This record gives sequence, structure tokens and C-alpha cells, in this order.
Amino acid sequence: MKLKKILFTICFLIVLCGRSQTNEKNYLNLMNAVNENQLKSKLTILSSDTMEGRETGTVGETKAANYLASEFKKLGLIPGNKTSFMQPFTLFSYQTKSAEFILKGSGKKLDEEFYLQNDFPFQGKIDIEKVLCFLNDNLLDTAFLNGIKGKVLLIKNSNNYQTLIRFIDFIKRKGVLGCFVLDDKNPLSNSNIKSKFFTADQKSNFFVCHVAKALFKEILQKSQILNEKFPQEIDLKMTLTATFDKNTLNSKNVIGAIKGKTKPFEYVFVTCHYDHLGIIDGKIYNGADDDGSGTAAVLEIARVLSEFKNQNIIADRTIVFLANSGEEKGLLGSLYFTENSLYPLNKVNLDLNIDMIGRADPNYSGNKNNYVYLIGDDKLSSQLVGLIDTINTGFTKLELDRKYNDPNDPDRLYYRSDHYNFASKGVPVLFFFGGLHEDYHKPSDKIEKIDFKLLKLRTQLILLTAWKAATNNNSLVRDIPLVKYN
Ligand SMILES: [Zn+2]
Repeated sequence: MKLKKILFTICFLIVLCGRSQTNEKNYLNLMNAVNENQLKSKLTILSSDTMEGRETGTVGETKAANYLASEFKKLGLIPGNKTSFMQPFTLFSYQTKSAEFILKGSGKKLDEEFYLQNDFPFQGKIDIEKVLCFLNDNLLDTAFLNGIKGKVLLIKNSNNYQTLIRFIDFIKRKGVLGCFVLDDKNPLSNSNIKSKFFTADQKSNFFVCHVAKALFKEILQKSQILNEKFPQEIDLKMTLTATFDKNTLNSKNVIGAIKGKTKPFEYVFVTCHYDHLGIIDGKIYNGADDDGSGTAAVLEIARVLSEFKNQNIIADRTIVFLANSGEEKGLLGSLYFTENSLYPLNKVNLDLNIDMIGRADPNYSGNKNNYVYLIGDDKLSSQLVGLIDTINTGFTKLELDRKYNDPNDPDRLYYRSDHYNFASKGVPVLFFFGGLHEDYHKPSDKIEKIDFKLLKLRTQLILLTAWKAATNNNSLVRDIPLVKYN
């Protein structure tokens, strides 16, 4: 009996040992399969002039999407959207068509004395009798804003645009009818303000009307505001009438998957954005690094894993490859995807997002040939840091720089690529990023400047991390509460 037990234990240990050896072998084989020339040939196509800078809603974007879908098909991936590799979506934007603003009987000049913010396509007419003035510059001091539902606000433009947007968002949710924003400019100019895009048609009853400095003074005189520091409700007769034109852009995400062997209904995502800035003033923005590099990496990871699948080396969980569009217009492809997901997001263990991994940050202080910035691994799951550290220490040995995890980082990179739409819905994310450089969002972001050795090293790390997350016994825990940016 005792001997039997010992024999059994020995056998069990041999099996375990054998398993961990195959495991280790798998990692090494996967790592060695990543090929620099493969990355180069993919990026050459993605960043070529025929792709016309891959701007969302353009012919160039469609060419890039078709190329990605045909590659996914060649590799034998499963289409992400029923029989299709494409997830089409429409983007909406708005422009003021006509607007009339009458203050105590006198009409004001559009685009000189006032303009309406295009993000809020208010249609129709509103007669205003009273406004609640909040002319303190500190828009975050919102203590007084209880009981503002159904009112019209008059506020001072904060010097910080983000603060203003947050404030407007806040009062809109509180049921305010609209607001007049007093700008410190005279005359006004909104020609530099780009129209925002949305993933759904906006039917807004809410308006944001910007008012020039001179008109602001007139309002103050007419309303006899006594002290700008305190909120106060005043009588002020105004009428606002507006109509908006709607523009639409048709776009698509590209999605394919390799089905997991034992847990096919749990998922690990590998994502990038394939769109870029298109053609501006006749110049093609090829976006070789942003995010041709990440797109090439996704294709290469898909190629390696497909080849392993053909040798029956398959991860337990399903690995999904998602190339988003609309990123440069405001992370919109991934927003649409996560709001209309083709996979249940509570079954997505991890999103590995890749953006700009083909170059070195000139300001990086360590070894520029062998590092990557890791963003988001300290959020949502306490197991993430350990997961990537194990892979990196055991195999790839890159310098992992986590400086952008600092919540006070002024570049706010955690919020600036597609993973954030996954994270904001509770999916643990790891964002792989090479850093900003002098060619960021310039026509000079070209393939000649890509460091393919570095691109390969980073691709290896991402591939092995995907493999690890897709073969771990347990799903990643989600034990760190979400910190939402608002
Ligand atoms: Zn990018």
C-alpha cells in the first residue's frame, strides 16, 4: 500500500515535470517563431501610400481593413462577427446649420458674438426667462449644483478645457436644459474646434452656447449681477433657436479568433488600432509607428499562434484579435466594440492592447534597445503584475517601465488608447507602448524610422503574455475597484 502510494507520487511528479517541460518548450518555440521579416513585410503594406494614411471612413481605411480580413482568412482564423471578419459601425458628427440668439429683443451675430457647440446638436427653440449664474472659475466646486434640474446655466469658461467638458457633462446628466459659456475672447472663433464624433445618433435637447466677451459684459449689465463669486438666479429674457446638419462616416473593426481547446468561452484579446490620420493638406500620414507597428504585431501574433494550432498546440482559452478603427477620432471603434461586443465582456480575461511599439522614446533613460512601457497592469487585477513579470523574467527579459501607471501623470496615457474602453467596463488590461517621439502625428511617422529588432522583442513579450493568460489554470481575478475618469 505504502509502496503503491510512493510509486503513484513518483509517476505524478514525472508527469508534472514533463508537462512543465513541454510548457517551457512551448514558450521558447513561440518566442522564436516571431519573425522580423514578417513584421517588416506587414508594416510595409500597412504604411504604404496606397493605404492613404488609413483615416476612418475613407477608401484607405477600407483597403487596410480588407487587407487585415484577408490575412485573418489566410491564417484560418474564425470570423469574429458570424461569417464576417468585419464589425461595421457608423460615426455621427454635427454642424450648426442655423442659429439665432436674441437677448432682450436684440439679435446677436452667429460666429462672432456667439456659437453653439457642435457636440450638442440642439434642434428647435427655447425661450428663457431666468438663468442660474455660476461665474466662479472653479467649475469643480459643484456643491451648489443640487436642484439644477430644468434650469439654464450661465457659466464662465474655465481655463482648462477638460475641466469645462467634465462640468458640462456633469450638468447635462443632472438634467440642466443648457448652458451659456462666457468665453474670454472677442470676437469668438470656433473654426479651430473639430467636430466630435459619436457612435450613435445624438438627439440632444441640451445646448451649449458660447458667448463672446463683449456680449458677456452686456449680459452682466442687463442682469445686474451683484457678486460674480456666488451662484445666483437672475431674470434674463433670451431666445435661442438652432438647427444642425448631420454627417456620417462608415467604418469597421476587424476581428478574428483562434478557438480555445478546453475553455473556448473564455477570451484573451490582443488589440490595436489600424486607422490613422489620412491625408492632410496633400500629405499622407502613413502612421508606421502609430499604429502600423501594433497592427503588424497583431498580425504576426495571429500568424504564429495559427501555425502552432496547425501542430495541435492550442491555448485553453479563445484568443481574439481585434484591429479597431476610429481610434484617432476618439477611441471610437473600441467604444463601439465594447458597447456592442460580439463576445461577453465578463468572460474576457484580459485585453492586451498595442499602440506604437516600433520605436524608442528619445527620452527613455534606460536601455533604448530593450524596453517597453507597461500601462494599466496595476489596475483591476492584482494578478497582472505577477503574470507579466513571470513571462518577462523567464523569457523575454525586457526592461518594463511602469512610469505611466502614475495616476498623476500629465500625459494621461492610461486613458488614451483602445484598452481604456475595455478597462472602463471592468476588463483587466495591459497596454504596451513604446513612447512618444518627434514624429508622433506627423507625416514623418514612416517605416524607415521603425526599429524592427525592438518591434520583434516587444511582439515576443506580448505573444507570450497572451499565451500565458490563455493557458493559466484560473481566470484572472478582478479584485481592484475601477477608478473612473469623469
Ligand atoms: Zn495610436
